[in-house]
Amino acid sequence: MGFKEDADFARFLSMGVYAADAITQDLEQNHGHRIIELERYAKANKVWQTKVKRMRLPDLMCVSCGRRFESKGKTRLEVKLSDSTLPGRAWRDGGMRLDDVFAFARVDMKANPVRVSNLVYVTRQSLEDALGSSKEGNRKSVSEGSEMDRRWPMWTPEYAGEVVAVDNVLKKVRVTKGTSTYLYGSGSRWDTFHTLAVGTAFEAGQPVAFSFRMAEVACPGDGSWNWQKDLLSTDEDIRFPAVKAARFLGVETVEDILLSIAGDEANDWRLRLEAHASLAPTRPASVAALRVLAEGTDSTDEVRMEAVFSLSEIDTEEAVEALYSVASSTEPAIPEEVRAAAAWGLGIGARKAPAKLIRLVNDPSVLVSTHAVAVMPSELPQECLEELLDWLRADDLHRAATAAHLLAERDLVAELVSALQTAPEGVRRLIVLALGDTSREAVSGLLSQLDVQSRAGIATLWAKKDDWLRQPDTDGILDALKLQTLRR
Ligand SMILES: [Zn+2]
Repeated sequence: MGFKEDADFARFLSMGVYAADAITQDLEQNHGHRIIELERYAKANKVWQTKVKRMRLPDLMCVSCGRRFESKGKTRLEVKLSDSTLPGRAWRDGGMRLDDVFAFARVDMKANPVRVSNLVYVTRQSLEDALGSSKEGNRKSVSEGSEMDRRWPMWTPEYAGEVVAVDNVLKKVRVTKGTSTYLYGSGSRWDTFHTLAVGTAFEAGQPVAFSFRMAEVACPGDGSWNWQKDLLSTDEDIRFPAVKAARFLGVETVEDILLSIAGDEANDWRLRLEAHASLAPTRPASVAALRVLAEGTDSTDEVRMEAVFSLSEIDTEEAVEALYSVASSTEPAIPEEVRAAAAWGLGIGARKAPAKLIRLVNDPSVLVSTHAVAVMPSELPQECLEELLDWLRADDLHRAATAAHLLAERDLVAELVSALQTAPEGVRRLIVLALGDTSREAVSGLLSQLDVQSRAGIATLWAKKDDWLRQPDTDGILDALKLQTLRR
């Protein structure tokens, strides 16, 4: 996949990220849970080519009660899950116990800021109970594992109103609609019929009648989950969430158990890695163990990536050192993307290290250097700024271009203009090019400080804004159309 396809996919992933975040907020603020990511990166949209095959578990979990939540964000609110005839791929698989909750939300990506609304919670048990009312969507070919969608019907009027009357025998519900009322009768085809209570007001897009029972999601609170006991389970689906939760609940009392999980080679590698990840915030030896997994000759790419991701979550100096060691490694066995992921962690991980990151922005690997540039902080620390200005004084066009980009992106126009006075000839042109990317307002006040040639250069670049074929909505459009003129 190219980087443009990655960006498209990231936009698609963003919908899930917004949904998971809104569902987390709702569960914490309105229902008393303490939510963590059970599935690493459930709330991030970064696209990586190295796929880590994680355990099939829901994406969120409460560390107080142990309940698991699978969040689903869609443009249209519907209770729909992908289903399959392949073993382990049915809608109910993936570590969902009967009392665990599927959480659905409508995500409006066109709104600014993005709007998430109409949350629907339903347990696996309720969906099992309402299976008779569910409908299969189109089945794909057998070669694709008979993948399909399964949908549980509900009625969500596109208008706001109030429930006037419910007939549970005939399975009908009457609601207000503007100045009159509307009787919804299609629920008669469902096995079971549930509605909002009479007298309840509803918003546009909110489900009013549903073929399943909505879940009660109040958290029973601390102590309702015996996670220490789950740590000793022989079932990995039970043990993994407990290992993951340990770092939030306190590893002091279970350190020996976690160490034995990490050390037992009979265990799945993900379980062992996660045991170290839970110990790592308070135990430097576990950071070292993760570093060995990331850098060691025995590791697969998948293990290296997951180790780097875990190191990125740890707010200690040892973790930063480990990430920098991976990111700057010259060991050919370590793939560029693993190094890029380590750089990414130094930029937007638990502990930010811009002074280290800046040593990676000119890495010979374009993958590593661009990842480092992309996550440099918007407020540059003084030492980083000094370094960039140095690069504009030296005769190295590669470094100078990096510096000019980083400064222009932050609208550090005065710095660029001042660097122009002392920069070597080739670098001067790069600075003018970068100034052409900054806002006209920011530069115009400083134009008088510039020589005639630089001023003319910047003016030419600004002409881009007067060219209707170089606007955001038209740039590249002719190339795209010419690609479609093939007709034989
Ligand atoms: Zn809870």
